[in-house]
Amino acid sequence: MYRTHTCGGLRAENTGEAVILAGWVQKVRNLGAMTFIDIRDRYGITQLVADGGNALGDSVTLTTLKEVADSLGREYVIQAAGKVVERSAKNPKIATGEIEIALTDLKILSKADTPPFTIEEVSDGGDDLRMKYRYLDLRRPPLQRNMMIRHRMAQSVRGFLDREGFLEIETPYLIKSTPEGARDFVVPSRMNPNEFYALPQSPQTFKQLLMVAGYDKYFQIVRCFRDEDLRADRQPEFTQIDCEMAFVEQEDVLQTFERMARHMFSETLGVEFPAGPFRRMPYSEAMARYGNDKPDIRFGMEIHELTAMAKGRDFAVFNDAEYIGAIAATGCAGYTRKQIDELTEYVKRPQIGAKGLVWIRIDENGDVKSSIDKFYTPDDLRAWASELGAQKGDLMFVVSGERRRSLTVLSELRLELGNRLGLRDKTKFAPLWVVDFPLLEWDDETARFYAMHHPFTSPKPEDIALLDTDPGKVRANAYDFVVNGVEVGGGSIRIFDPTLQARMFDLLGFTPEQAQAQFGFLMNAFRFGAPPHGGIAFGFDRFCSLFGGSDSIRDYIAFPKNNSGRDVMIDAPAAIDPAQLDELCLKTVKPL
Ligand code: ASP
Repeated sequence: MYRTHTCGGLRAENTGEAVILAGWVQKVRNLGAMTFIDIRDRYGITQLVADGGNALGDSVTLTTLKEVADSLGREYVIQAAGKVVERSAKNPKIATGEIEIALTDLKILSKADTPPFTIEEVSDGGDDLRMKYRYLDLRRPPLQRNMMIRHRMAQSVRGFLDREGFLEIETPYLIKSTPEGARDFVVPSRMNPNEFYALPQSPQTFKQLLMVAGYDKYFQIVRCFRDEDLRADRQPEFTQIDCEMAFVEQEDVLQTFERMARHMFSETLGVEFPAGPFRRMPYSEAMARYGNDKPDIRFGMEIHELTAMAKGRDFAVFNDAEYIGAIAATGCAGYTRKQIDELTEYVKRPQIGAKGLVWIRIDENGDVKSSIDKFYTPDDLRAWASELGAQKGDLMFVVSGERRRSLTVLSELRLELGNRLGLRDKTKFAPLWVVDFPLLEWDDETARFYAMHHPFTSPKPEDIALLDTDPGKVRANAYDFVVNGVEVGGGSIRIFDPTLQARMFDLLGFTPEQAQAQFGFLMNAFRFGAPPHGGIAFGFDRFCSLFGGSDSIRDYIAFPKNNSGRDVMIDAPAAIDPAQLDELCLKTVKPL
């Protein structure tokens, strides 16, 4: 038997028991007469002591036992037998801190080179090094906790959906393009020369085919692949909790997955939300009040439009603007010039793209001072303040320009102020549904419409007539689940009428032949009795990072890719040998 207990399991009540532990050496301290070893596994750390007084010397003599202890290096794998004794100096910081093991035997199972970084709660290794030795990083308690959260959440989801009657059905990875707005990863087919599979951006078309097939509640915790530029919350392969239901309307889907979310929050984090449905906010309201479609509603400081009020004085910047809007930073009237400049620089970064920030200070006496005092009277500015609900002691920021850009600036400014003011507490959760998304999005560059969600999303029945007259105005039966400013999930009610689906492809610029070639299988299936259906997919990695209180999904994926899409541990992607290329009928073209 390698072990009788784990390194996290022994307590004062085990005192006197003979035990065997196995694990990794975290630390060795030779104090002369005694040597202390911290042994670690994923359950915890236990202190071992090779000590003259306690040693019983079963298979090794005292001297050799201590010699073995003193010879240990970090990360050696050892097996330690001994007796549980109460510690004289207890360590309340660890669960096993009341006891230690007086060693009677100690074996080295595996030696270890000195690890390239410390394997402790906080490591001294940089990102790249830790990615290269990911298996060592994964030994660290923070990552082990993350993997455990992920595991627990997966079990919780499976349990819930199973009890609700959902079937877990796997769909293939070698498929053809499913449009979710990213590029495909493609895989050449040896048996079908010059032809390629695409890895699924999502199982969207298959889950819809499962509805046609009569499996009215489907789910899958499934890998999806999207070839897009990476950020902290994106990975080329990521996991979704993918779900679909037949004979449902939007409200049925929202209620089912609200129950799922409540269940996960409760079971994994012990967080309970008040009874009653989660808030539902139309997309247009989210944009107007928060400047984006995934509002963080843990705090106020909402955006107010001032376009009508602020025009008509001598200030050309405002007079020429399509939109003028503002937020009031609560209690920030005391901000220094330097603090205001910092915020201005923050929103001027190219990703945000502000031209500048107008500020208006309302001091504790109600006196108003601003960067536009030349153009507006204190009464003008007080009227704006009352429009915003700004109080004495607040600092207002006004942004103007093109509507969409200004809203983005205000949104980013609001979130940054929320961070600075400590209003975005990671232990508080504010879920909501954003609903009534536009069906289509116009792209100036390519002068065509794109599906805002995907081409299978159904328009709202009352807006269908607008498809012919003003397609940009059509709202979709689409919804996002948003928590703390993070889009955790999104889905829609689908089109199940082949004629409407064909109309949609037409609007998206597909010729009937192209639509038939790419999605004929789905439209044909709809001719054989398609039930009304809809669904949703949750970003599982994001859900995990949200629950774990981190901004990076990478910390919740055992073996993630770096920002260039590389796995630096196994060194992928990599060239393949000429014979393999030949077999696949492929030739690589060197860069020019
Ligand atoms: N397939 C969609 C996505 O990956 C989700 C859905 O519509 O169910 O975003």
